[in-house]
Formats: sequence, C-alpha cells, structure tokens
Amino acid sequence: MKLFPGLSVKVAVLLVLSVFLGGCGSEQGPVRLQGRAIGTTYSILVYGLPENLTSESLDRGVKQVVAGVNSAMSLFKPDSELSRFNACNETDWFPVSRELAEVVSTAKEVNRMTGGAFDITVAPLVNLWGFGPDKRPEIVPSEAEIKQASADVGSNLVEVRLDPPAIKKLKPGLTLDLAAIAKGYCVDAVSNWLESRGVSGFMVEIGGEIRTRGTKPGNVPWRIAVEKPVSMERSVQAVISLTDKAMATSGDYRNYFEVGGKRYSHIIDPTTGRPITHKLVSVSVIDATCSRADALATGLTVLGPEKGAAVARKYNLSVFFIAKTADGFAETATGNFPKHETLN
Ligand code: AMP
Ligand code: MG
Repeated sequence: MKLFPGLSVKVAVLLVLSVFLGGCGSEQGPVRLQGRAIGTTYSILVYGLPENLTSESLDRGVKQVVAGVNSAMSLFKPDSELSRFNACNETDWFPVSRELAEVVSTAKEVNRMTGGAFDITVAPLVNLWGFGPDKRPEIVPSEAEIKQASADVGSNLVEVRLDPPAIKKLKPGLTLDLAAIAKGYCVDAVSNWLESRGVSGFMVEIGGEIRTRGTKPGNVPWRIAVEKPVSMERSVQAVISLTDKAMATSGDYRNYFEVGGKRYSHIIDPTTGRPITHKLVSVSVIDATCSRADALATGLTVLGPEKGAAVARKYNLSVFFIAKTADGFAETATGNFPKHETLN
C-alpha cells in the first residue's frame, strides 16, 4: 500500500549501489534489515552488533520505530495524527506527538530558509496535479482550479509548538503534505533508535534518503552513489563518502506525467501553483539530520539552479546540483559537499 503519495515511485537504489561500491566488509558481514516504511522501502546495514542485541531484536525495534512514524504522518491511514489534523476544520491548538511537531517545526525552518519554496501546506496543489492521495487523473488543471487550490497554501497558516507538542491551523481549510520530509524524518528516527541501543556503525536508507554512522570495519567509510537523473535507466552520476551525516536527494526525473509532450513534475512551485519547469533535475543535500536534508533538497529543487545555489551558499549548505544541458548534465557543488568521482 502506498502510504505517502508520490513516494513509491522514487525507488531506493542508492543503498544497493552503495553496498556494491563499498567493496567487501568484515568477515562476519553486516546485519541487513529490509522492509517497508512510509510508502516506500527501507534498507539498513549494521556492523558490530552490541552483545545485548540480536538481528531479530534489531528488526523488531526498527519496525516499531517505523510504525510510530507511520501512525503520526501517513496520509493513507485515516486515523493517523496527520489525517486527523487535516480533516479537522478547527483553528484551536491540536495536540500531536513530539515527532509530528518536530517535523512541522523543521518544515517551517526550511520554508523560511528557502523563501517559501519548501512548503508542506502545498497539499491541495499536489492533489490537484494528481500526485496526492485523491485519485485524480493526470490532467493539467485550469487556472481557476489552481487559484482555488492556492488559497489555502502558505506556511504562515500553520503554527507549531514543541512543549506540549501541538500544531494549529490559522485557516480551517489548511492541510499538510509531509511527503517531502517524512522519509528523512523516519531515517533520523531509526538512526536515533540504533544509536540509543549502542549501535555504532550503520547505514539507514529509506526511499533513497540516507544517514550513516561510523565506518565499516577497517575504517572504511560508507560510500554513497548519487543516481544519474534519467528516468529510463539506473546508473551512477557520482560517488561520495558519507560519515556521521545524512544525504537526501530530490529530482523530477522519475515522478512526473506528460501531456502533449510536456513534462509535469510532482514538485510544485508554491508561488505559481504549478510544477517546476527549470533545468535543475537533481539536488542532493548533506546535513546533520536527514529530515532537514530531505526538506532542503525539495526546497532547493523548487528554487532552481541559480536561486537554489544562492540559498545553498547563503547558509553554507553542502549541496550537489545536477542541471540538464543540451548535451548532458552540468554539476555544481556548494559548501563541503565532498569531492566526488564523476562517472559520466
Ligand atoms: P521529495 O521527493 O522529497 O522531493 O518530495 C516530493 C513530494 O513533496 C511531492 O511528491 C509532493 O507530495 C510534495 N511536494 C511537492 N512540492 C512541494 C513543495 N514545494 N514543498 C513541499 N513539498 C512538496
Ligand atoms: Mg524531500
């Protein structure tokens, strides 16, 4: 079942690639856990299991963390906190879990950093363009429909407080779409749980968003592949080492529909109410947390090559941009994005 619209099509190949790229591990090999989370798949590698843990208890623990995130943030569970908040037309404080309040708080921070480009209140537009939970046909909506859907969009219309955790609509029609940040949040939640259980070497990947801790045996860093932004094949654009950090990637090269030869991306520019149209096709962000990396990757994708790079430089963010050119791809890296091996 697809719990988050738009997520299941962004396939998690990076882990597979990174395992491949990582070469051989310890003689014992890693513990590998796989499953489904928030409408996509997860894959986890753990080296050096503490003595008090077995792969079964690890698996149970991860599933519990994932179930908690699902019941807070899934749009396809009518009783999730997010679904109940969306359905409620009242403008009072709505008590939620700390997890949901934290996500909304990070989303508002990234909304400010990106000058409104990242906006979780974009839900009515995502639905209108056929990428949300409403089973809309893939058609180009009318100007009037776009205007109407835009009326309830704006991150200033949602307030959040952490203690006690609650969120609040300033307009009854407001609804939230967390698809652009929830995968990253789930990566953080699983990573934090693993750390709390004393696991010191792991890689957690959910729907292509990744966080690592420590290294593989022999001090070998985790090596992560950035996918080439093409829809018809899966190949590697660049390879980086990632230690004690998270990386998230956004792009419009896989989740889109076409009408009359024109491509309509699932990433919506809240200022126009329309899918993005520029030549930026993939944005990877490295950050301390995967939720912020996930949100920033989407927000910088909305901003496009020039404005996106300007925001990345302003906040000294480590970002890798891939833009389409007449004969291939052009890459730009900002901040401390690690030097990589370009494979095209
Ligand atoms: P991601 O793959 O993380 O870039 O997330 C893309 C998803 O986020 C889309 O499928 C929509 O559900 C949602 N979305 C689209 N545009 C925006 C936006 N401007 N801000 C926040 N979320 C968005
Ligand atoms: Mg994102």
